[in-house]
Amino acid sequence: TTAPVTKLRLAIQKSGRLHDDSMRLLKECGIDISNGVNKLKSEASNFPLEVFFLRDDDIPQYVEDKVADIGFVGENVVYEKKKKVEVVEKLGFGKCRLSIAVPKGEDYASAASLQGKRIATSYPVLVQDFLNQQGVQAEIHEISGSVEIAPGIGLASAICDLVSSGSTLFMNGLQEVETILQSQAVLITSAGLSEEQQAILNKLMFRIQAVKKAKN
Ligand code: ATP
Ligand code: ZN
Repeated sequence: TTAPVTKLRLAIQKSGRLHDDSMRLLKECGIDISNGVNKLKSEASNFPLEVFFLRDDDIPQYVEDKVADIGFVGENVVYEKKKKVEVVEKLGFGKCRLSIAVPKGEDYASAASLQGKRIATSYPVLVQDFLNQQGVQAEIHEISGSVEIAPGIGLASAICDLVSSGSTLFMNGLQEVETILQSQAVLITSAGLSEEQQAILNKLMFRIQAVKKAKN
């Protein structure tokens, strides 16, 4: 009998803002996973890689638990979840920032202006870290989506949300006043890959770096 072929298991977003760029990056690395993405997983035909399609929020946990060996996910999710994973490569897509915004025209001098306020966010851990750093006490109200409507409906007087162009904030009558994190998609891994898996990862990272270099 022959030993099973070692594969690297990669977790990427099933659908959403990171999905297409994640698939494109694999393609640009010469990896073919065209055999259907409308399922939980797919195998590359020409590289020892298995791809799992998951919600982005779950990717750090899957990598920490070694259900997947590596993942492509936003830094914002990595740092919010605080799982035992390592960021090994920035991927150059999914760029955005996590910012605090308040209603347009409202005075905002510094983080101290948030003292005693209620901030709606999907990133309670990162917001609390920021408030601690600034020595500001504020109430964090966690909501999972449509954070930008919170001030308009009286749920909160400030928000902290992901921003790229700023048009969503603008349309909701908000102004961006503070950036607490710059983010992009990154490659994460857990410690303790086998020697064979590490060799596959090195090969993949070599290709990713070549793709990034070609774009600069
Ligand atoms: P899922 O269904 O996988 O949980 P989601 O709705 O949480 O998806 P998306 O909106 O698809 O997530 O965003 C995925 C990631 O894309 C974000 O976590 C962030 O890293 C990145 N991103 C880049 N630009 C933006 C933006 N303008 N708004 C939100 N996320 C952005
Ligand atoms: Zn998500």
